[in-house]
Amino acid sequence: MDIKFPEDIPSQRMAFRHICNDEELERVFNIKSPEDYLFLIRAETIVDHMRLFRVYRNKKLYSKGNWSLEDSFDTYHFEQFLDALNDTHRKECEEITYGNIFSNKASGTIFTSNYGPIITISESLEYFLKFANLTLIDFDTDIPVSVRFNSLRIAIRIMLQQEAMDFHMDPRGIIPKKIQNWNNIVVSNQMKFIAGHEFSHYLCDHIDKKNICEENIYKDIFSDGENHNKTITFYNQSQTEEFIADATSIELPNYNPHDKTMVITSALYWFAALDLYEHFIEKVTGRKSGLGEHPSAIKRYESLLNNVSLTKDINKQEWLDYQKNLDVIKEFINNDVDKQLEQTYRFYGSCYLAEPNTKWRGKHLIDRKDYY
Ligand SMILES: [Zn+2]
Repeated sequence: MDIKFPEDIPSQRMAFRHICNDEELERVFNIKSPEDYLFLIRAETIVDHMRLFRVYRNKKLYSKGNWSLEDSFDTYHFEQFLDALNDTHRKECEEITYGNIFSNKASGTIFTSNYGPIITISESLEYFLKFANLTLIDFDTDIPVSVRFNSLRIAIRIMLQQEAMDFHMDPRGIIPKKIQNWNNIVVSNQMKFIAGHEFSHYLCDHIDKKNICEENIYKDIFSDGENHNKTITFYNQSQTEEFIADATSIELPNYNPHDKTMVITSALYWFAALDLYEHFIEKVTGRKSGLGEHPSAIKRYESLLNNVSLTKDINKQEWLDYQKNLDVIKEFINNDVDKQLEQTYRFYGSCYLAEPNTKWRGKHLIDRKDYY
């Protein structure tokens, strides 16, 4: 038998071939622009993590030849923020490259590169928000408490990188169309706010070249040990700068009152979700949030209510009272961690909104039979 291996295709190139189209493959090995550099970070993180690699290899396989890894990542949230800026501020942002990558930083990030500043947001964050919102928002619908709490478990598992990122094939349950549409609007406002927060660091001159640190992009939250993943040089911001960037992300764009109400309320739900996640991490690891450069989510929630000029549709007292709901949910989290940390949070796979063959779940789908 005469087996010939193509000598010009090293194994690394083979791995990228499974998730990139031909033109993208060339870009990975021949970086010429900031966009290429961002694309390389995105592709490398996927190739280095088998679970992500499996999802993206399947996405390419089932795309019927029309695949672009770059186009599979949205940029609408960055552009919606930039579109709402005046010409001067928009021009200032032109030297920034932006896009989503996979990262377990529970926020956006602005970092340095040889190609100028780059802003990224974790692709996982959008899914985290989608599931956390289902826990936190009333949606004028009687959503069972079990569905709301299962949704929070999925959200937390997404942040822990324990949940398979295959929601496009296995959405984890059936969410009524009305809620889905409402939730999509909230998520897009949250992503716009998060993108705006990072652009605001740049516009408010928080980018101090002396104040930088190396960090892993995508690391195991449960591990304290050595981590050999790719690192990036981030700008460190002070707590004060974080509050300023939050307020600027809302006040600087020219939003009409309706859009401003939407972005403020969506941002408050984002901080509420982040507060629950921080509580989970504190309960499991004993690591308290809000001690370093980053203020705790609940401080950011309160700062937003106190430092942004609220529209007439936002009732400050109602939002201050809303924090009591978070205390109730935290009791659920404590109980869950005490009773079933291992079974619920420390395995890789999929969690669902409800049991199979029920209203919120639908038919039991079987991996590699009903989807790939
Ligand atoms: Zn920040």
